[in-house]
Amino acid sequence: MKKNHSIKIPLRNNPYEVIIGKNIINKYKKKIFVTIKNAKRIFIITDTTIKKLHLKKITQIIPKNFFVKTLVINPGEKMKDIKTVNKILTILLKNKISRNDAVFALGGGVIGDVSGFLASITLRGINLIHFPTTLLAQVDSSIGGKTGVNSLYGKNLIGTFYQPNLVICDTIFLSTLPRRELIAGYAEVIKYGIIYDKNFFNWLNNNINKLLKNDSFQMIRAIKRSVEIKKEFIIKDEKDLNNKRALLNFGHTFAHSLENCTKYSKILLHGEAVSIGICMASKLSNRLGFLSLNNYLKIKNIFYNFGLPIDLEFLKKIKIQKKQIVNNMIYDKKNLSGKLNFILCKDIGSAFVYNKVKKESIKKSIN
Ligand code: ADP
Ligand code: ZN
Repeated sequence: MKKNHSIKIPLRNNPYEVIIGKNIINKYKKKIFVTIKNAKRIFIITDTTIKKLHLKKITQIIPKNFFVKTLVINPGEKMKDIKTVNKILTILLKNKISRNDAVFALGGGVIGDVSGFLASITLRGINLIHFPTTLLAQVDSSIGGKTGVNSLYGKNLIGTFYQPNLVICDTIFLSTLPRRELIAGYAEVIKYGIIYDKNFFNWLNNNINKLLKNDSFQMIRAIKRSVEIKKEFIIKDEKDLNNKRALLNFGHTFAHSLENCTKYSKILLHGEAVSIGICMASKLSNRLGFLSLNNYLKIKNIFYNFGLPIDLEFLKKIKIQKKQIVNNMIYDKKNLSGKLNFILCKDIGSAFVYNKVKKESIKKSIN
């Protein structure tokens, strides 16, 4: 089998490629610079942790004739706000950025979301290349064009749809990722199996040990299939308009509510919240008669075997009330119409939108 993979995201106005492999930055140097062929300036956005570990991998491939500036922010969700964007934007403008120039986003979801938003509003849109450094960013946030920063009123409320020119998923970055962050990324990978591809789910189930040992070959396979599945949803619904893309949010209504209860702190990583949230959404699917008990238990087991949390036991120190979890869900931005639009599954590999869920059933799915 091939070692590196290229997945084309064939969006009508903004087609781009996602390249996946190990140690590929140097190998794909030519493609990177052809993609931004008229650029003279490159602005690398990263955080202090990633700068120390990986910045050189990027700077060493940039030809000498480019003007290069690296902008480094502190790690963490707190930096994902409009102030950070404004500060960087001012530096870009001060350095006379032009529409042909490029932003390189080197980092996890926070860096990707900030850089994407920044690239979309600078001069009404400049070139953007993602170099995602977390598993979560490689399989999810760097693909699909959702950008955004947080507001006082909630997460990702300020943002745009803006597709990158290229995404380079190099698994070499993942070798330094803390184990907890890596495992959290697998929650989104498993999600793709549950919503779309039973065979992939079974394959993940049979390869847990290899994946958790960072077996490069298997990891690349897991990332590749995840990107292919995400692609299926975004090409059918680029701007989240017709309920197709919504299926990618399986488990996320519960997850966002839990993250809200923990104030988006490190107590609960997004992937961990997604793991618990999918277990709850699966329990709800079972309670409403859509999903068999056997499949519900299979779903819980795969998360458990990956070392992910599956229920509120994980959060027992902070004592969250079920009522609070349900109330947050009702105020979730996706439910402004008053109806609770829920994503449920009827089988492993098959999810659907359902809007007749009662508050009481939700409460009973929380454990
Ligand atoms: P995500 O949203 O993709 O989970 P974040 O942007 O929140 O990721 O980053 C999570 C944390 O992991 C941050 O502290 C970041 O500095 C750190 N990090 C990101 N990539 C790496 C890496 N490859 N190696 C080590 N730490 C990393
Ligand atoms: Zn998610």
